[in-house]
Amino acid sequence: MLNDATLLLDLDGVSVVRVERLADGRRRVHLVTADEAARACPACGVRHPVKGSAATRPRDLPYGEAGLEFRWHKRRWCCREQVRSRRSFTEQVPQIPARARIATRLRAWAARRVRDAGSTVIQAARDLRLSWRP
Ligand SMILES: [Zn+2]
Repeated sequence: MLNDATLLLDLDGVSVVRVERLADGRRRVHLVTADEAARACPACGVRHPVKGSAATRPRDLPYGEAGLEFRWHKRRWCCREQVRSRRSFTEQVPQIPARARIATRLRAWAARRVRDAGSTVIQAARDLRLSWRP
């Protein structure tokens, strides 16, 4: 689903389905997975039947004065090959790995700030209003 909002966001692997204005002025961007490869089970590579859904709130680079808040609506499935450990999986894309709370490009941006500007990781996170837990 390549629409104008998705193109504007330019975050590989996800599509924008809706943007809403919150009471405090911020915008909430609803995302779905665009990359079909994200449906392959990371444990066995098979596409299992979808068992449910999950919504995550990844952080990304700042956009505009008030910033954006993301809701990524993901599909969930179970892998019967994984009897011991992680049996339930959700979609992931390289720009937002599973269980990552911030986008890969935001992590890279913060790392560059630390390297180039002599900023600390804490300060870089503070600049982005992130609660940073390494
Ligand atoms: Zn599997």
